[in-house]
Amino acid sequence: MSTVPARKIDVYDPVTPPVCTSCGRIIHPNERATVFVCPNCGIAVIRRCARCRSQGATYTCPNCGFTGP
Ligand SMILES: [Zn+2]
Ligand SMILES: [Zn+2]
Repeated sequence: MSTVPARKIDVYDPVTPPVCTSCGRIIHPNERATVFVCPNCGIAVIRRCARCRSQGATYTCPNCGFTGP
C-alpha cells in the first residue's frame, strides 16, 4: 500500500488568518479590528472586524457561549 498524501481536513493550519468572531470574515492585517479576551471566561480570544465594530454586531464566545456587544 503506497502512501498517498492526504488532504488536510480539520487539521490546525499554522497560517490560518484570523477571522471575525461575529461574522466569520477573514480579518486583514491592515484592518482596524479589535482583539480582546472574553470578559466572561477570560480564556477565549474574541476578534471583531471593523465592519462588526461599526455595526455593533454581537459576538458569541466559542469557549463559554457568552454573548456580548
Ligand atoms: Zn465581522
Ligand atoms: Zn468566554
